[in-house]
Amino acid sequence: PADGSWTDATVLAADHGLVFHSWSAQGRLPDFVVAGASGCRVWNHAGRTWLDFSSQLVNTNLGHQHPAVVAAIQEQAGLLATIAPATANATRAAAASKILAHAPAGFTKVFFTNGGADANENAIRMARVHTGRDKVVSAYRSYHGNTAAAVVATGDWRRVPNEYARGHVHAFGPYLYRSEFWATTQGEESARALEHLERVVQSEGAASIAAILLETVPGTAGVLVPPPGYLRGVRQIADRYGIVLILDEVMAGFGRTGSWFAFEDHDVVPDLVTFAKGVNSGYVPAGGVLICDAIARTFDDQVFPGGLTYSGHPLAMAAIVATITAMEDERVVENAARIGAEVIGPALRELAAANPLVGEVRGTGVFWAIELVADRGTREPVPPAVMARVRALCLERGLLPFTADNRVHVVPPCVITAQEAHEGLAILRSVLDDVAAQAPA
Ligand code: PLP
Repeated sequence: PADGSWTDATVLAADHGLVFHSWSAQGRLPDFVVAGASGCRVWNHAGRTWLDFSSQLVNTNLGHQHPAVVAAIQEQAGLLATIAPATANATRAAAASKILAHAPAGFTKVFFTNGGADANENAIRMARVHTGRDKVVSAYRSYHGNTAAAVVATGDWRRVPNEYARGHVHAFGPYLYRSEFWATTQGEESARALEHLERVVQSEGAASIAAILLETVPGTAGVLVPPPGYLRGVRQIADRYGIVLILDEVMAGFGRTGSWFAFEDHDVVPDLVTFAKGVNSGYVPAGGVLICDAIARTFDDQVFPGGLTYSGHPLAMAAIVATITAMEDERVVENAARIGAEVIGPALRELAAANPLVGEVRGTGVFWAIELVADRGTREPVPPAVMARVRALCLERGLLPFTADNRVHVVPPCVITAQEAHEGLAILRSVLDDVAAQAPA
């Protein structure tokens, strides 16, 4: 409507007619309207609210509409709304400084991008130029973004229709519940996954491999927290063969796991870190690459063959500075760790013990997955119709869930309170109990 008097129905009609959506057949269009949001809640035009257990695309780590971040974006817009990338700008430098302050010693520079895909794209480019090598090894169970190299580095179905970039090789990572290695313990899974990775590296020609690119905790693939020692083993393989280790922290970073960076939980330091999403809670599109000193120095005299008009866009940078400041001041990362350890973890373990649909729960911080299975013995995933019912019932009962394949991911904002977490978990439990009661035996 020209006067802006939208209703849920007119928004849906306009959207379905005019907007082309990601990763979808355009006949299967969104059924959910969001008109506004605050903290961990979203609402539609009719004023119905939902508790957001998805953080949208697992990016609103600070919740919606944090007043300090909104004010910082407004203030920056009034001061300087855009600037070319090859200029020096105070807000951009401040954003780099804020991010580096949480990185381990040895990281000295930040390259800013528009989001996570181009962060991975440019990290791969840096590794290739730095090593003079070509190939990139990544995991089958992964998502790295939708641009040329990032989508081919991706392991899941989204790679297959997009395989135009060259030089990509995949390996299986650890996933004990559905082990590729006949493992029965985390120790076996880790050791065998490492042996497999090293054999892939050797068989591909170790001297041709520029980078190993892994999500520290594969997210969309199922919140696959690596077993103790796995990432340290990957670091050793990378070092043994002179390969750059890139850890993708686009989803896992900035508080999600209860740490600033997820790799801190695994006693490992990569050479390049890619980030996006939580760095500014997605208020303005932004991502980037944290660069260790050795790789940064490669480009002191050599031209870096990459760039973006909006690299370090001031509105995104202002949102980064304000987001990280708010996360520090309000101890948001500590909150994520505490909610995971004291509320979500215990509740999900209780659910797994009581509900026959639940095959496994796993996670850390505010980053959890519940695997739903038709049969606990065979671990056969529930069919899509069951997942559709889970999602519909959650929405009906006031919870916005994140579902992927046969899983519900419990991924609320890092600022969620214990009370909100209990509220959402109670809805989830009631939905899964009802679906389990209805499921065919
Ligand atoms: N890497 C990971 C681990 C992600 O989860 C995502 C997005 O979900 C991306 C990269 C791509 O980020 P973007 O969609 O901002 O390009």
